[in-house]
Amino acid sequence: MSESWTSDELHTASEAMKRAGHMGYEEFCAELDRQIKPEPTPTLNTEHWDCECEEKYIHCKSVDRCDECDALRGESPDSRQSEVDEGIHFAY
Ligand SMILES: [Zn+2]
Repeated sequence: MSESWTSDELHTASEAMKRAGHMGYEEFCAELDRQIKPEPTPTLNTEHWDCECEEKYIHCKSVDRCDECDALRGESPDSRQSEVDEGIHFAY
């Protein structure tokens, strides 16, 4: 597909594809979006990280490792801001 297509041309092609029973360009993009991003990316709190524990899994970045599950800070994701705000999952 050429990059020099205008949005009008894309729209026309999209309509033609829809008429032919294919997914339209906009639908195709939306479908792609759904597959790549199943849910909105949560806001992360870069001061904390999550270990593998069920209940108390949020650690401060000053902690390198969870004593309970042996998760390492360097291999764990940042905590979600919403869960940090809840304040009930802190491991320390
Ligand atoms: Zn843990």
